[in-house]
This record gives sequence, structure tokens and C-alpha cells, in this order.
Amino acid sequence: MPSSLDPFSLIKNAPPSPAVSLYLAPWVVPISSPVIHDGAVAIANGRILAVGGSATLRAQFTEARRLRCQGVLLPGLVNAHIHLELSAYPHIAPPAPDDTFCDWIRSLLHVRQEGGIIPEAIAGAAQQMLQQQHDSGVLLLLDIGNIPPSPLETKPPSAEVTFLLELLGPNAKAEELILARIASLPDSVAATPHALYSTTPGIMSALKQRADRLHHILSLHVAESADEIELLRSGQGCFRSFLAERGAWEDTFPPPGIDSHGAVEYLERLGLLDAGLLCVHCVQVSEKEVQMLAAHGCKVCLCPGSNRFLGVGVAPLEQMLHHQLLPALGTDSITSNEALDLWREMRILREDHPGVSSAEIMAMATLGGAAALGREQDFGTLAPGRKAIFLNVDSPLLQGVRNEEQLLDALTGGGCPSTIRWIVEG
Ligand SMILES: [Zn+2]
Repeated sequence: MPSSLDPFSLIKNAPPSPAVSLYLAPWVVPISSPVIHDGAVAIANGRILAVGGSATLRAQFTEARRLRCQGVLLPGLVNAHIHLELSAYPHIAPPAPDDTFCDWIRSLLHVRQEGGIIPEAIAGAAQQMLQQQHDSGVLLLLDIGNIPPSPLETKPPSAEVTFLLELLGPNAKAEELILARIASLPDSVAATPHALYSTTPGIMSALKQRADRLHHILSLHVAESADEIELLRSGQGCFRSFLAERGAWEDTFPPPGIDSHGAVEYLERLGLLDAGLLCVHCVQVSEKEVQMLAAHGCKVCLCPGSNRFLGVGVAPLEQMLHHQLLPALGTDSITSNEALDLWREMRILREDHPGVSSAEIMAMATLGGAAALGREQDFGTLAPGRKAIFLNVDSPLLQGVRNEEQLLDALTGGGCPSTIRWIVEG
């Protein structure tokens, strides 16, 4: 028999089947399917092969390398709004009851202009914060900054940073300068407007067209404070004074020809609402505006810790969920939050929204963030095909839980777990 027809030689020359690793744990939280008690995740070639009960997957993958974990397996967290470059600055005191949102902006500009912090210190603090985020279980970050990114953001290897260069200009003179800058930006730099009150419609439209062309995300601060809405509606309030004292007031607001009643409606009239837009904060939005965001497939990121710190109110999360809009979560920067900790953000959400389930809050911190960054095919859930990079967490609180509800309550209400370990394969 010719050797080429020798069945044994065919077996011998067949490509080896991929090595399977089977991670077993008391609890698996896939997000996209119910919590599994005594569960397992099978991995091969850097991707998840299967997620299910421990007995089922052990029977299915008899040759797999078995790795037993304590506690919980779950997707990495996503911080969908952070300003790493502000990490070097000191905490700014929260606004007093009579202060406006603009008073906090004045304080922030003061520390940035007078702080005397050298670029090396800014870069060092940003790197330190990135490491801190990763150590606390954050896998993806959307970083907004005024300083173009440096190579430091490529570390550590398991955390991915998407950087957006934030541009603003409140009047015609600034618009001319910013449009010239936009035209000179290399395609590799993604750019985004800061906020409606600081950026002319012309700049926002130019950035939107550029983001569409380059397939970049556009993300801006939207409806963060009642002061912002007052400016959009009437051209009055603290923002008018703030812009006037900086020589930037040009009767820009209310925008001529735009009969706007709210920030989202304003964005709609400008043609900015679509699936490529990530609206951050969305505290001062009407239910009609929530429906508009959902209808256009827009993404939303809530920053409950920052909103509480600045005293601007609470976003209508229940309405968003009712309209099938799963927001992402973000910490914002250390200048407007006591701590940049997504576990703490989940706890604050629970306090602010007792009617929202722990499962929905957990989904916001994982799947909501991955979808906001357009990365839900790789991250945000434990499901076949996703990348084999996920979390194993444990704490004394988690060891005492007896069912799915108690587990999710402990994860979203217990703060940062005492043990956080990354599982990375491939
Ligand atoms: Zn921000």
C-alpha cells in the first residue's frame, strides 16, 4: 500500500487539534446569558470556545488542561470615559451649594494653567492611573485629552486605550483656528468635540464628517448640567458670563435657526445623532430625548460618581433601559470624582437607582462599555468567539453568596474585590 494512502500516516500528519484550556470556577457571569453556578469557560487559540456548566464542559473537553479558580469568572470592565492626562492634578473641592457648574470649570482651568505641572509628571501620572485601572479589572478605556497621545498608553499589554483628541472653540475666531488644525491632523489621530457649550456647530460638523470618514468614534459631554441647558435654550446663565469674561461671547447661543429645547435635540438638528456617537453624562435629558438617542442607535456613557461630586443631578437610567438603551460607565477624571474606580461607580448607581437590577448594572460596566467602543465582538461578554482575556475575582463577600441575585448584588455593591486576576490566553 502506498504510504500516501496509509491511514495511520494521515493521522500522524494531520494538524494537531488545538489545545483546550478549561477554566472552572464556583461562578461564571457571562453577561449575555444567565449566571452559571459551578461553571466553566473553554478556550482554544486565544478565543472562547464554550461557556457552560462544569460537568458538561468537562465531559465535552476530556483532554483539556483544567485550571480551577476561586470566586467568579467575568468579562473585563470597560471605562468608557476618562481623562488620563488630568491624573497629575490635585483634587478640586466639590462645588459649594451656591456654586454653578462654571465655577468648577474655572477651578479646573486655574489648576491646569497655574499648577506648574511639567509634561513628564503629567505622563507619569497618566501611566500610573492606567496601571491602576488595569489592576482594578479594567480592560478597555476611552481616554479623552487635549494632549496628543504618547506611547505610554500602549502599556500594560492587557489594557487597550482608545484616545480621542478633544477640540473646542466657542466662537467664529476660534472656529477658524480649530478647522485649520483639524485639516492638518494625521488620520491616525481620532478627534472629538468637547461639549455643546464650548464648540461651535461648524467645528462639531467638521469633526463628525472626519470621524465618519475615518471610522472613528465621536464622543462628547452632553447635558451634564442644568446650566448647559439654560445656555442652549436662552443664551443666558453662568455659561454666558463665563464665555463673556474670557472674551469668547458672540451671541452664539441660542443657536440661530435651531429651535432647540435640549442638548440631544440640538445634536439632532445638527445631524450628529447616529451609532457612531457616544454621549457622555446625559443627566439633563427629557424622555423624548432618551427616545431620540435610542432611535438613532446612539451610545450613552454615565458617570454617576462625577455627577454626584459636581451635584448636577442623576441621569434617567430607568428611562434609558426602558427604551432598550444600555449605557456604558465611566469615571471621568480625578478633578471631578473622589476616586476613579468602576466598582465604586456601580455601587453609586445602585444607590441612585434602587429599581435597576444588579444584572443590568453589571452589564453596563462590561457589555455596555464594549458596545460603546465598538468592541462587543471581542469583549464585554463571555461567549464563544470572544477573546480569551477576562477576569477572575474573589473576596470574602463573594464566598458567602448562595444564588445569582446575591452574587450580582455582591459584585455591584461590594466595591473593588480583594482579589483580581487576569486570565489571558493567546
Ligand atoms: Zn469628561
